[in-house]
Amino acid sequence: LSDKLSAAFKRLKSKGKLTEDDVKTAMREVRLALLEADVNYKVAKEFTKKISDRAIGSEVMESLTPGQMVVKIVNEELTELMGGGEARLKMPSSGPCIVMLCGLQGAGKTTHAAKLGRLLKKQGHRPMLVACDVYRPAAVKQLQIIGEQAGVPVFEEGQGNPIQISKDAVRHARDYGNDIVLIDTAGRLQIDDKLMDELKNIKEAVQPSEILLVVDSMTGQEAVNVSKIFDEKLEITGVILTKLDGDTRGGAALSVKAVTGKPIKYAGIGEKLDDIEVFHPDRMASRILGMGDVLTLIEDAQTKLDEKEAEKTAKRMLQNKLDFNDLLAQFDQIKKMGPMRGILEKIGMDTRKLSDDQLNDRLVDRQKAIILSMTSEEREKPATINPSRKRRIAAGSGTKVEDVNKLLKSMEQMQKMMKMMKGKKGKRRFMPPMG
Ligand code: GDP
Ligand code: MG
Repeated sequence: LSDKLSAAFKRLKSKGKLTEDDVKTAMREVRLALLEADVNYKVAKEFTKKISDRAIGSEVMESLTPGQMVVKIVNEELTELMGGGEARLKMPSSGPCIVMLCGLQGAGKTTHAAKLGRLLKKQGHRPMLVACDVYRPAAVKQLQIIGEQAGVPVFEEGQGNPIQISKDAVRHARDYGNDIVLIDTAGRLQIDDKLMDELKNIKEAVQPSEILLVVDSMTGQEAVNVSKIFDEKLEITGVILTKLDGDTRGGAALSVKAVTGKPIKYAGIGEKLDDIEVFHPDRMASRILGMGDVLTLIEDAQTKLDEKEAEKTAKRMLQNKLDFNDLLAQFDQIKKMGPMRGILEKIGMDTRKLSDDQLNDRLVDRQKAIILSMTSEEREKPATINPSRKRRIAAGSGTKVEDVNKLLKSMEQMQKMMKMMKGKKGKRRFMPPMG
C-alpha cells in the first residue's frame, strides 16, 4: 500500500499548486491503493470523499507545499477513521470487571486472554482467566498452560456447561478479590447460530462490562465481515486485532472501526505473551501510509541530518550485533538521512558496483515488508526460518521466496563481515544488505 500511496503523493508534491483536479486524481489513486490493501469498498469511498472535501479549499491553497498538506490530511483522517474510542477497559462501579473474549477459531482468543491478563496484572490488577471453551479438552489445557506462563490464575470446570462455568467463575472472583474476569469462549470456523446462542447466553448470565471481539487482521476483508455480524448479534464493545505482525496490508485495521463503530482496543503483535499493546491509531496510520515516507514529508523532507549525525548513526550500526530488528529500526533512520550511497560509504562500503536502482527507497520498503512478515523470534534468529516459513513470509510481504532468500543471505554476510571487522579494525569493507 505505501508504495502506491507515496507515488500518488509524489505526483502531488511535484506540482506547485493544488487544483480540484489534482485532488481528484490523487484521491482516485488513494482509493485504488486502499482497495488493494483489502479495505472495504464503502469505507474507501467515504474516506476519499471526506479527504477531498477537506483538501479542496483555501486551507490547502495557502499552505506552502500542497503535497505536504494533503499527506497531513490523509494521515489525520486515517487516524480518526481508526480511532476515537477509549482503549481502556470500562471498570464497573462495583464488583469485578467482566470481559468476554469471543471470535472465530484460531483468531487468538485464548492467547489474548493470557496476554491481556498479564498486561493488566502488570498494571496492578488481579485478573483471572476462565476456561469456557469446553468442547475440546485441549482448549482448557492450553489456557491453563499459558495462564501459568503469564502468572494469571485460571478458573476451570473441565468440560462443564460454559454458562454455569462463567457464573461460578464470577462468584469465585468476588470471593477471592479478582477485579477482572477474562472469559475465554469457544470459537467455530464459521459463524453459526449455535455459537451465537451460547455466547448470548453467557452474556445474559454474567452481564459483562466488555465484550471484546478477537479478530485476525491477516484475514483482511473477512475480519470486517466477521466484526459486523458479531456486533449485530452480540453488541460488542471493542475489538482486539491480532497478528498485526504478519499483516502488511492494514486493510482490516482500517475498516473494522468504520464498519462497526466499535474501537480497536488492543493489538496483538506476535506470538509471545508480551506481544500485545494498546492500539494506537496514529501509529497504525503512519504504518499504513509508509512510515518513513509520510513522516519525513510532514516533518519536512528537506531536513537532513548533518554530517556529524550521520557519522554517529554509522558508528552505532557498526557496534550493533545487528539482527533484523536492528535493521528494521534503522530503516526509518536511514531514510531520514538521505541518499543511501552516502551513508553506506561513510561506514566504509564500496558502493561503486551498486546501481542507483539497487540503492533506492523502494528496495528499503520491500525489505521492510519482508522483515515485518517475520516473527520477532525469526528476526533475532534468521537461521530458524524454514522453507515453509519463507513461503509464508514471501506471501505476507507480497514478495517472492527468492527475495526473502536474498535478504537472509545478505544478513548472514553482513553478520560475518561485522565479526571480521571487529577482529581487524581499520579494514572497513563489507557487503551491503542489498539484493
Ligand atoms: P483461538 O482459537 O481464538 O483461541 O486462537 P489461539 O489463541 O489458540 O491462537 C491461534 C494461533 O494464533 C496460535 O498459534 C497463536 O500463537 C497465534 N497467534 C495469536 N495471536 C497472535 C499474534 O498476535 N501474532 C502472531 N504471529 N500469532 C498469533
Ligand atoms: Mg481458544
